[in-house]
Order: sequence, then structure tokens, then C-alpha cells
Amino acid sequence: MVKVSDLQFGYNGRLIFDGLDMQIPRGKVTVIMGPSGCGKSTLLSFFGGRLKPSRGEVRFDGEVVPFGAGERLYAMRRNMGMLFQSSALLTDLSVFENVAFPLREQTDLPEPLIRILVLMKLQLVGLRGARDLMPSSLSGGMSRRVALARAIVLDPAMIMYDEPFVGLDPISMGVIVSLIRELNDAMGLTSVVVTHDVHEGCSIADYVYLLGNGKVMSHGTPEEMQNSEQPETRQFMRGLPDGPVGYHYPATDYGEDLRGNG
Ligand code: ADP
Repeated sequence: MVKVSDLQFGYNGRLIFDGLDMQIPRGKVTVIMGPSGCGKSTLLSFFGGRLKPSRGEVRFDGEVVPFGAGERLYAMRRNMGMLFQSSALLTDLSVFENVAFPLREQTDLPEPLIRILVLMKLQLVGLRGARDLMPSSLSGGMSRRVALARAIVLDPAMIMYDEPFVGLDPISMGVIVSLIRELNDAMGLTSVVVTHDVHEGCSIADYVYLLGNGKVMSHGTPEEMQNSEQPETRQFMRGLPDGPVGYHYPATDYGEDLRGNG
């Protein structure tokens, strides 16, 4: 569904990706992991054509993703749902109107059909009964589920989740984990989940990519990743404080430093 080839990109001259290659298989849940700041969210921006590679390309369903604006990009984006960490609900609109929003903006469907589509999506996330609530009266987990209903209301081929587990209590987290899997399988979606959470990520992944040093550090099924002997992969997957990724910020010799010669 997505093919990233030789992607190179930096912010203000600081390289974030240096020849990154990745393939997102159709119909599966692919989890992209890596330490904070390694470029996971930035990578999703490339999938949606919000950033321009300085080298390489991203293809969505066989077509190169154009950058910035234009009909071709908008048509592509209609096929990509996105769930942001913040949920990003419109605070002045009810749950129903938030989910209806993309339909009103991007289609000319008649009101009775909009109503049915919205109620079907709310039913999928278990919130049909909450349709008249305002975002301010929703819990964090409910907000994320409303955002999820909105993200799938146009029936995209692919959905991207940016850190979907952050800040949720264990029950809401469990709900989101099972929703991601159920929606993927029931709607025949392709799902991409960006997370630094090894445990939750592995529990829903069909396939895992681990990013580091501007590239894909390793990839495989969750089992392969958890049993990997590659030192960086092992350190990240097991949460070891020290390893190839050092605990200490680079410094002068410790003894010399204490003696005042550092
Ligand atoms: P992750 O999602 O893995 O935590 P991000 O993709 O958010 O990482 O960020 C990767 C790196 O790029 C970080 O060091 C971050 O500070 C930097 N960065 C992100 N967005 C911008 C931006 N708009 N301008 C400059 N630097 C940015």
C-alpha cells in the first residue's frame, strides 16, 4: 500500500532520514516504533504529502505522493484516515457533527444518508449513544474513539495512528488496541500505527519496523523482533537503559573531569 524508497530529509540541515526504505503491506497492521524524536511522526507527514523529500520518494497505492497541494494529493488523502494523539475534535460541535464533518466538507450526500453513515461509524466505536455530547464532556478515551469514527467516516483504504496509546488509562488503552485490530479486519483497512510503546505495539502488530539513526534499524514480526539478537533492537525491545544507544551523553574522561582536567 505504501512504499518508501531511499527517503532522505532533514529539518534545518539536521538529517532525520538518511536513505530510509519501508513497505507497508495492504490489509495488515504495521507498527512503526522507535525512540522519541527518531522521526516517526515526520514519516507519517510524508505519507500524507505534507513534507517534501530531499531525496527518494513515497508511493501510495503505486502512485508517487505529490507534495503540498493539488487535486491528485487531495484525492489520495481522502483514502487516508489519520488519528492524531490530541484527537483534535472541534470543540464547538457535538460528537455527531464532528463525525459528520468530513462528509459535509467533502461530499454532497443528502442528510438522511449522512445520518446513517455517522451512526454506523459511531456504533463501530461504541458511542452511538453519545452522539449529542459535546467534546468537553468526553473522557480522553472517548475523545479518541470519536476521532477514530471521524477518521474512518469516508471509508479510507488506509488509516494512520500517531501515538494512539499515550495518556490513556489501562481500560481505554485496551479498548483502543482492540478497536485498531477489529476495524482493520472488519473494514479491510491497512493500518499504520506509530508508537514508542513496545508492549502495546507488539500486541497489535502483524509487522514491526524499528527506526533509528535515520534508517530502518530492523523489521520483522513481533516475535522476530522480540527475539532479535541485533544489539540496538534488543536494547529497544527490552527497554534496557544502556547498550549501543548510550545512557551517558558524550563527555570527557570521568576521572580527568573530577580532577579538574575535563
Ligand atoms: P517522533 O515522532 O519519533 O518522536 P518526530 O518526527 O516528531 O519524532 O521528530 C523527529 C525530530 O525532528 C525531532 O528531533 C524533532 O525535534 C524534530 N522536528 C520535528 N518537527 C520539526 C519541525 N517542524 N521543525 C524542526 N524540527 C522538527
